[in-house]
Amino acid sequence: MDVTVNDTIDSETAAIVCSELNCKVKVTSLLQQTKVDVDVGDESDYIKRHPIVTVMGHVDHGKTSLLDAIRKTNVTSSESGGITQHIGAYQVKIDKGSVLFIDTPGHEAFSAMRARGAKVTDIVILVVSAVDGVKPQTIEAINHAKAAKVPIIVAINKCDLEGSNPDNIKTQLSEHGLVSEEWGGDTIFHKISALKKEGIKELLETIILQADINEFKGNPKVKAHGYLIESKVEVGKGNVITVVIKNGTLRQGDAYVSGNATGKVRAMFDENACIVKEASSSTPIEIIGISKLPQAGELFQVVENEKEGKRIVERREQLHKERAANKVKKVNLDNLFDAIAARKVDELKVLIKGDVFGSVEAIRDIMEKQKNDEVKVTVIRSATGAITENDVNLASASDALIIGFKVKPNGKAKKLADQLGVKIKQYNIIYDIVDDVQDALQGMLRSEKIEEELGTLEVKEIFKISGSGKIAGSVVTQGKIAFSGIIRLYREEVMIHEGEIATLKRYKDNVKEVTEGSECGLQIKNYQDIKPGDMIKCYLVKEVEREFKLLESN
Ligand code: GDP
Repeated sequence: MDVTVNDTIDSETAAIVCSELNCKVKVTSLLQQTKVDVDVGDESDYIKRHPIVTVMGHVDHGKTSLLDAIRKTNVTSSESGGITQHIGAYQVKIDKGSVLFIDTPGHEAFSAMRARGAKVTDIVILVVSAVDGVKPQTIEAINHAKAAKVPIIVAINKCDLEGSNPDNIKTQLSEHGLVSEEWGGDTIFHKISALKKEGIKELLETIILQADINEFKGNPKVKAHGYLIESKVEVGKGNVITVVIKNGTLRQGDAYVSGNATGKVRAMFDENACIVKEASSSTPIEIIGISKLPQAGELFQVVENEKEGKRIVERREQLHKERAANKVKKVNLDNLFDAIAARKVDELKVLIKGDVFGSVEAIRDIMEKQKNDEVKVTVIRSATGAITENDVNLASASDALIIGFKVKPNGKAKKLADQLGVKIKQYNIIYDIVDDVQDALQGMLRSEKIEEELGTLEVKEIFKISGSGKIAGSVVTQGKIAFSGIIRLYREEVMIHEGEIATLKRYKDNVKEVTEGSECGLQIKNYQDIKPGDMIKCYLVKEVEREFKLLESN
C-alpha cells in the first residue's frame, strides 16, 4: 500500500504492519474509548454498605409524607442539631442499621434516571393508598422496578383512615405479580400511616433486613463511582451536583468525569452542609464548582487524573456528534441488527399501547407467542391510551420498542422519544405488527457459520528466526491462502493443529493473500511444530442468516 504518515489504514493492515514490528495490536471502538474502566478491586476488600432506596407510587398516595415521616425518625439529623440541607438524598440511622433515601419521589425521576442507564436504587418502596387502591402510576412504578430488577417492598399507606382495606390492595397487587408472603409469594407488605407516623420504624427494619439478605457491598479501596441524582444552578453556589456514591471512596482532589463534564473535586459537602474530605459507598455528597452541568442520572466516575478526564470527555463529544449525524442510539427495528452483531440482544422488548382493551390483549397474546428456542418477544408493558413520556422513559430504560395500535404519542412523548432515540411504531392492522416483529426476530437469530475452503499449501522448508520462531517456507499448491482465514495443519493426512496465521509474507513483504503456484513464508499464531511436508489448508469463515420459525408448540 502506498501511504503517507497522515493516511488512515484499516485495522487488518495495521495488524500486519505491527506483526512485522513485533508489536501487539488492540482494536478498540470510539465507544470503548468513552468508557471508564470500573475499578472493582479485590473481592476480599468488599464490606457491607447501606441500601439505597427510592420511594415510588401514584400521586397523592403519600410518598412525600412517608419521606417526611422517615426523616423525622432520623437519629443522626437530630444529633447534629437537625440542620439538614436539601440535597436530594438523606441517610436515616436506626439501631439496626442505616438506609439512604433518594428524596426525589415519583417514578418520573426514577424512570428519567433509568432512561440514562442509572442503577442507583437497591430497593423500591411502593406506596399504595389503602383507600384508593392500585392506580395507573402504581402499575407504572411496578413495571419500572421490575424492568430494573430491583426488589419491591409494598407500603400500604393511609391505614389510619376509615374505609381503608389493606387486603384489597394485596389482591389487586397479586394481579400484577406482587404476591404477599402470607399468600405464598415473596413480596413484603407493610401497613403504615405516614400521617400518624405509624409502622415507619417497622418499615425501616424491614428494609434493613431485606438489605442484609441481598448483601449490598462496597469496596472502600477503589476509585469512586456513583450517580448524579440532582444537577442544578444555585444562587451563590453556581453549578451544584449531588452524587450518590455506589462504590469506592471519593476524596477531595479526585479527578472525575460525568457525562460531558470533567474536573477535580475541590470541595464537597455532606447532607448536613459540612465540608468533608472523604465520602464512602451509599452516601450522598454535594459537589460545587463543576464547569458543565451533566443531567441527573449520569454516571459519575473518578479517573486517574484531569488529563484522562479531558481525553474521555473529548471522545464522548465526538461520539455524540457521530451519533447525532447517524441518529442511531437505542435498539429499534432499524438498528437491531447492529445490536445483534454485538450480541446484546436475544429478546425483543416491546411496550404496547392501544385504543381499546380487547386489541391490546390480543396483541399482547400474539406477541408473547413470537418465540423460538433462541429469540423471543418480551412485553414489558401493555395498556390502553395514548403513548406518554412515561412510556418513552420506560422503553428507553429497557431498550424496548413502542408499538402503538390506533394510538399516537402526545407531543411531549414524541419529542422525548426523538431525544432518547426510542422508536415508536404506529399500526392500524395487527398483522402488520406481526410481520414487522417476525422480521426483527429473524434478524436476531444467531447466524450460522459456514466455512469456505480457500486453498492448500505445502511446507517446503523451515527457517528459524531468532526471537520470532519458525517460519514455514511454503508453496501454495491449490487455490489461495488468506491472512484473515483460519488454518488447519495436516501431517500424513491427520489434522494436528487448527488456528490462525500470525504472519504471511511474500519475500520480505507482509501480504493479505498468496495465490496458487506462489511461494510464501508463513507463521502460525502460538504454534511452532511445523515440519517440511506438512500440508496447511486455509478456510474463510462466513456467517449466513437463518430464517425465523415459530416453535412447534405455538
Ligand atoms: P404524594 O403525592 O404521593 O407525595 O402524596 P403526599 O405525601 O403529598 O400525600 C397526599 C395527601 O395524602 C396529603 O394530603 C397527605 O396529608 C395525605 N396523607 C399522606 N399519608 C397519609 C396517611 O397515612 N393518612 C392520611 N389520613 N392521610 C395521608
